[in-house]
Order: sequence, then structure tokens, then C-alpha cells
Amino acid sequence: MRELIDKVIRKINDVAKDLNEVKIMHVCGSHEHTICKYGIREVLPKNIKLIPGPGCPVCVTTQKEIDIAIYLSENYVITTLGDLYRVPGSEKSLFDVKAEGRDVRLVYSISDAVRMAKKEKDKNFLFLAIGFETTAPTTGAELLNLNLDNFYILNCHRRTPPVMEYLLEDTNLDAFICPGHVSAIIGVKPYYPLVKKYRIPMVIAGFEPLDVLISIYMILKQIKDGEAKVENEYYRVVKEEGNVVAQKIIDKIFAPADKRWRGFPVIREGGYELKEKYKRFDIFNVEDIPNIKEKIPKGCICDKILRGEKLPTDCKLFGKICTPFNPVGSCMVSEEGTCRIFFKYYKR
Ligand code: SF4
Repeated sequence: MRELIDKVIRKINDVAKDLNEVKIMHVCGSHEHTICKYGIREVLPKNIKLIPGPGCPVCVTTQKEIDIAIYLSENYVITTLGDLYRVPGSEKSLFDVKAEGRDVRLVYSISDAVRMAKKEKDKNFLFLAIGFETTAPTTGAELLNLNLDNFYILNCHRRTPPVMEYLLEDTNLDAFICPGHVSAIIGVKPYYPLVKKYRIPMVIAGFEPLDVLISIYMILKQIKDGEAKVENEYYRVVKEEGNVVAQKIIDKIFAPADKRWRGFPVIREGGYELKEKYKRFDIFNVEDIPNIKEKIPKGCICDKILRGEKLPTDCKLFGKICTPFNPVGSCMVSEEGTCRIFFKYYKR
């Protein structure tokens, strides 16, 4: 394996010497883990830049969504996945309000939350439905035949290709490493229109160090050859058509809808809305929620990190005031967050 890795690094160096600076963004926390854990940035030629983008569903959940959950915790049992629990809202986190006595429960999936709601019919339950195309089918599958009138979701699901398009419109990226997990669901096809419109290479990559290195080589080779196409390095998992069963579930329950991401404005079709038949589960359908104004902590540059403009090491709070034990921004909370990953591998 070592020999193979050395060989790919040599090939990358070989192609890169004929190129100017190349900015490659990925949009997956697992890719950033591999890159940091195996020191991939350090073995690349200086002109090849790997930029982490908005690849962590917890990180891109807006402060307002956290604040809404906190506001609703007065009357609802809040059920949430572990990471979201510690993301700071404007004043507090869900962890803080639980400590104050509100009923906030950690669950492994929406199914756990539904089970609780079935058992405790005298309470109203709210599930914070977060994640990209990878988790939307799980939410959808649970709601499909659900017959409960004390269960609701705060729909924070988001769609990945639209945010990639936003970044292509707004920045000067040269290529994308496409997310392996998301692509396993959506397949290869959603990337074709982006490549056609923006003429940049896009390579779907797996999560082993060799996957990432090979995908970088494939991108550089395309640039050197003057090509721009979608390639699938992760073909052992990602199929051209994706996971059709999961896509059908998404289509039954959700329709694409405009959505704001943390660090971004409203992204056109950057999220989902529940279709009419399932709107009864949407908390916005049953509650009149006040317009809560966000208060982003002074000095936190999560917005710039999520847009790929800065790295965690550019933040003055990184590793000093902001640590995984005392996260100031969302990017320091989740295992998939860029600041948390940098802290793990560069701040020991
Ligand atoms: Fe925000 Fe902390 Fe990251 Fe700085 S280190 S950008 S404060 S999450």
C-alpha cells in the first residue's frame, strides 16, 4: 500500500509542476478527516490547495434553527442527535436548557423519537431533522406511514449540489472532490449540469487516503488535459443512478425548497419542504414561531470557514477560547466540523 501511495504522490507532483495554483474544494467532513489524519495537505505540491467547504450538517444548521428548538423546548420534548445538542444558539445551547430542566433527549435516529412519542401520548415531541441527502430518506421513511398527532419535525435537511453551485458562482474554485456518502444516494447524474455550466472537474471520492490522493490526481490530470468532466473514483460504492429506493422516498415526502445555510444566504433549492400530504408533521405548520434574531459570537469565523474562505487556524479563538469542550461556533462541535477536526489533528 505504501508503495502505491508513494506512486500516486509522485504522479500528482509530476502533473502539478505544469500547473498554476489549483484550488480544490471538498464538501464532506469525512474527507477532511482523511486529509488531516494522513497529512495529505502536507504531501501535496505547494500550488495544490485543498479547501474544506460546507460538509458538516451540524455546522451548516443555522443559529436560528437552534434558537427555534430552544424556544419550542418550553412546550415540546426536543429529540436530537448528539452533536446538535451542544451547538450554541444566540444565548444558550440545547445542553444548557436541558440543564435548566427542559425535556431535551438525545436519540440515535428519528425512529427512537417516534418510539418515545408513541409511548408518551400526553406529550408533544419535536425531532430536529438535520443532514444532507444521506439522512433525508431516513426521515422520509419514518414519516411515510406515520399516524401520530403528537410528533413533529423541525426540518433542517439540506441539498448538496445547490450549495456547490452557489460556491461556483461566487468563488474561483478550480475543482470539486464530490462527497462519497451523498453521492451514494444521489448518484453521479446531479453533477453533470454543474460541470457543463461551470467547466470544472468534479471527482466523486471515497474516504481512504488512497481514494483522496487518486481523486486529486484525476482532477489535476483533467486540468492538465484541458478537460472538465465528472469522474467516479468511488465506483465501488457510488452507482451512476445512486440509491433509487432512497431517492423515491425523498421524492414522496419532500420537494426541493430554498433554504438558508449557516454562512450562506438563502440557497436556491438548497433544502427540502414537506409535501402537502405530510405538512402536518412540519412544526411551522402548527406553531406560530417568532422571528428570532441571530447573535453570532464576536470573533467566530465559522461563516468564512464554511464558504472556504478561511481555515480554523485563521480564527483568533481557535484552540484558545474555542475548544471542543467549550465550542464557540458550530464548526467546533461535531466530529465532522472543520474546526473540531483541525483541533484533533493540529492542536494536540
Ligand atoms: Fe468559530 Fe471556534 Fe471555529 Fe473560531 S475556532 S471559527 S470560534 S468554531
